Amino acid sequence: MNIPMKKRIISAAVLVGVFLAAFAGLYWYKTHGKGKEAIRDIYAMDTEMEIKTYGKDADKAADAAVSEIQRLDKMLSAQNEDSEIYKLNQAGELDVSDEAVSMIQEAKELSEETDGAFDITVYPLMEAWGFPSQDYRVPEQSEIDELLTHVGSDKTTIDGNHVTLAKGTQIDLGGIAKGYTSARLMEIFQKYDLTTAMVSLGGNVQTLRPKEDGTDWNIAIRDPKDPSDSSGYVGVVSVSSDAVITSGGYERYFVQDGKTYQHILDPSTGYPADSGIISSTIVSKNGTLADGLSTALYVMGADKAEQFWREHSDEFDFVLVTSDGKILVSEGLESRFTSDGDVEIIRKP
Ligand code: ADP
Ligand code: MG
Repeated sequence: MNIPMKKRIISAAVLVGVFLAAFAGLYWYKTHGKGKEAIRDIYAMDTEMEIKTYGKDADKAADAAVSEIQRLDKMLSAQNEDSEIYKLNQAGELDVSDEAVSMIQEAKELSEETDGAFDITVYPLMEAWGFPSQDYRVPEQSEIDELLTHVGSDKTTIDGNHVTLAKGTQIDLGGIAKGYTSARLMEIFQKYDLTTAMVSLGGNVQTLRPKEDGTDWNIAIRDPKDPSDSSGYVGVVSVSSDAVITSGGYERYFVQDGKTYQHILDPSTGYPADSGIISSTIVSKNGTLADGLSTALYVMGADKAEQFWREHSDEFDFVLVTSDGKILVSEGLESRFTSDGDVEIIRKP
């Protein structure tokens, strides 16, 4: 072929032009269009957190999420001397914010519904075991017995914004803090007209709508027997707009004289829960509930947990891993949970 030089230059220029336009278009779409993505990785509430937002205001939404996490980290920490919770624990009574009252109220109700498996008044016991300070020790039985007398949902009284703790009682919202936070982030995201979003607060996930390609988010549940191995999963849950929150003893523990002591306490014994469940995941539209129940079902053990779910199956589903390697999955997740493990579907009668 013998194309004149001038024509060749022109067609090359057209080609370059087409490419430039395509790249510019793609760039515009990425930064301004529907497909714009923002990612933030931060460390807060003693854990790694990831925020992913999509939509034209993705950046603004992600920044707002970071500020909200920092606000709640300060507000909810029982160890932060400036927090309402710290001040309430010191003084024994205090006028607290509307937000703190509603969280304490919610925790109290959860405690009553779970027959005390979830109880924010375990804090003095958490301290005795050295979990908050990481100055770990095994307390004497007599010390545990004394501290148990200050545990119970009836030890906290609420009158308007005035919260009173019984003598010797202290509270810790750590068992619902991350679920409450992810739920708050979803509320904030609603204002930014996002196409979709996902937050993972130390493995506790909440999603807003399906991914941009229309498919569900796939949330892997870590293998509690091998949590350090990032490829070790017990299974994957597919969700669109849900909280997927896991409690596992592997998250914080210490070993003394060959025994492992983990950070979720059984409020009825004052000892680390030893119910035969080693990982408890709750899937629910309600992040705060999911977090509280992940702790509660971990404490209850399989039989009580199944019974509790049968009474509240419209509010949540679960994936429980037992120490003998079984994966118990409630009916509602049957088509949304995939695993290579030994799965048993738990059904309603
Ligand atoms: P994590 O914060 O590690 O994700 P959880 O949601 O399971 O874990 O909550 C555990 C935290 O809740 C503990 O670190 C402690 O602050 C508090 N806690 C421990 N046991 C209980 C319990 N039985 N009820 C309520 N809160 C608890
Ligand atoms: Mg929890």
